[in-house]
Amino acid sequence: MRIDVGVATDIGRVREVNEDSYLVDAPLYAVADGMGGHRGGDVASSLALEIVEAAFREGKGSLADQVREANRAVHSRSEADQAVSGMGTTLTAVMVEDATARFAHVGDSRAYLLRAGDLRQVTNDHTLVARMVRAGEITPEEAAVHPHRNVVTRVIGTEETVAVDEDTLPLLDGDRLLLCSDGLTGMVAEDQIQAILEAEPDPQRAADRMVKAANRAGGIDNITVLVLDALSEDGDPPPGQLPSPSRWPSLKRLIAGAVIAVVVIVAVLFGVRAYVDRQWYVGESDGKVAVFQGIPAHPLGITLADVDTQTEIAAADVVAIEVYRDLPDGISAENRADAFAIVEQMRADVTDAASPGTGDGGGNGGGAA
Ligand code: MG
Repeated sequence: MRIDVGVATDIGRVREVNEDSYLVDAPLYAVADGMGGHRGGDVASSLALEIVEAAFREGKGSLADQVREANRAVHSRSEADQAVSGMGTTLTAVMVEDATARFAHVGDSRAYLLRAGDLRQVTNDHTLVARMVRAGEITPEEAAVHPHRNVVTRVIGTEETVAVDEDTLPLLDGDRLLLCSDGLTGMVAEDQIQAILEAEPDPQRAADRMVKAANRAGGIDNITVLVLDALSEDGDPPPGQLPSPSRWPSLKRLIAGAVIAVVVIVAVLFGVRAYVDRQWYVGESDGKVAVFQGIPAHPLGITLADVDTQTEIAAADVVAIEVYRDLPDGISAENRADAFAIVEQMRADVTDAASPGTGDGGGNGGGAA
C-alpha cells in the first residue's frame, strides 16, 4: 500500500507564533499542537515529534511507547528550563504499514477516516467538553460553542507520565486519513471538512483548501492539516487526474475481468469451432440432399455448418421414405466418407421407391441412424 501525503500548516490570522508542528517521515505521520507561554508551545510540539521520530527510527517499542518517551523528554526539558516551564503539546500520530494504520494519541488534535463517503473521527478528544458530552451533560453542538471548549485534560509534557490512547485500523484502498490540530476543527464544521476531502482528490490541494477554509472562518488558532491517501501499489494514476482516484483500481479490476471473460469466450469458441469442424451430417440445401460439415444447430441464429457437397437428389423424394423423414433436421454421420455412404444409400432407396419390385434395398436406412 502506498501513501500519498498532503500537508499544510499556517499561523492563522490571530496568533503571533505557530506552535503547531507536524511530522512526515513515511511510514510515520503526526501533528502536535503546542501550548505554554513565550515559545514554550513551539518547543514542546517540535521536541515531542523529534523524539517520537528518533525513537521510531531506533525501533524502541510501540508507537505508544515512543509517544511516552516524547512525554518524558518534554517534561524533563520543561523542568530544567525556566523559559519553557509548564509547556505541553498534543500529539496525534499514525504509523502505516502493511495496510494497517496504528494510532497513538494524546490531547485534542484529531485523526479522521474518510471511507466510502463516511467521515469518522478515529481519536477521542481529551478535553473537558468531550468528557461532558460522553457523560451526557451537553450535546456535541453545545460542546462546539462551550466557553471551556479549549480546556485540554491530557497533554504531553506536563506530567511525568501520560496515558496514551492507541488504536489500530485496517486500511482499504482509497481510504483517506486526516490528521489535524484544533485550529481546523475549531473553525470548520465536520460536514465542510468532509465536503473538501471529497471534492479535492489531490491530498496537497485538499490540505491547502482546509487551511484556507479555517482562515476564512476567522483563523483564531494555528492550523495544521495532514491528508494521507491509502492507495494500492499496482499503478494508480497520478493524483488529481481523475475525479475519484479511489474508484480507479476497481475500474481496473473491471477491465481486467472483462479481458479475462473475452479470452475465455474466445477459447470456448475456438474449442466449439474445432469440435464443429470434425462433425458431418446429411441434410437439405435448396431442396436437394447435401453433405454438411458441422452440426445441424443454430444457437442464437449462428450457423455452425457449411455445405460440403450438394447432390442432385431431390430432398422431397428422400423424405418421402420413412427412414429419412428426419432429413430436414440433419442425419448425422461418423465422418465425411460415412456421409457420402448415406447419400449413396439414399440414392439407391429413392431409385427403388420409384420402381417398386426391382430390388430388395427398400427400407434399408443404411447409416441413417
Ligand atoms: Mg491549537
